[in-house]
Amino acid sequence: MELKICHLYPDVLNLYGDTGNVICMKNRLQWRGIDVSVANAPIGETPSFSEFDVFFLGGGQDFEQEVLLDDLHMGKDKNLISAIEDGKTFLAICGGYQMLGNYYQNAAGHRCEFLGAIDFYTRSAEKRMIGNYLFRCVPSCGGSEVVGFENHSGKTYLSSGVQPLGEVLCGFGNNAEDRTEGVHYKNVFGTYSHGPVLPKNPELCDFILQTALERKYGKCELPPLDDRAEQAAHTVAIGITTKGKIKRHNARSCQKP
Ligand code: GLN
Repeated sequence: MELKICHLYPDVLNLYGDTGNVICMKNRLQWRGIDVSVANAPIGETPSFSEFDVFFLGGGQDFEQEVLLDDLHMGKDKNLISAIEDGKTFLAICGGYQMLGNYYQNAAGHRCEFLGAIDFYTRSAEKRMIGNYLFRCVPSCGGSEVVGFENHSGKTYLSSGVQPLGEVLCGFGNNAEDRTEGVHYKNVFGTYSHGPVLPKNPELCDFILQTALERKYGKCELPPLDDRAEQAAHTVAIGITTKGKIKRHNARSCQKP
């Protein structure tokens, strides 16, 4: 078996080590003897998207999101929308996640018309939402607890019927109002979680990889890995996030938005 990963805009969308998510996916496939290749798609390059199984988009500052707009609308947008509708697997982080929606009105008041692949919008807030946070994925995304780091001014509002990736247990999430975090649409997983998010959340990583493998090869089971180090990092990060005050099983908002 083999998965081909396309890293979109690694030149402009790569905040807080988000590229570590590509390394994590690659390693967790190779550790299981599954072949994997990674190709970059920076500004000015449009590979043949149909050959890829997984697409990754990292986070970016407001001006970086504007820098890539022209390139996005010169053809990549149509290719990406058809890849999404074709059930290809996407992981999109923060600015990369915002890009999949209708628009982002940034802190300068500029409205970036994005892909419109998923029905949601983002508007910049007065106060940035920054900190460690914790959310629980919805059952259809595996139901695992995910711990991460968020830093965004954008507040994302999902249209009715659009499913979040998870429910915020502690922190801000999409907009610090409706306790939603991220988005799940077809095989697209969007989250505000930087870090990179996957290494210390191995269940989420494997769920995403399994999604891509099953689309390509049909039902399959990923053999377990020795995740003691990853689970230790996950537990420490949860302790830091909830400051040890809240038991994991009933973690609630531990940072007043
Ligand atoms: N520039 C966007 C915002 O501030 C995304 C930030 C990010 O990717 N961390 O909301």
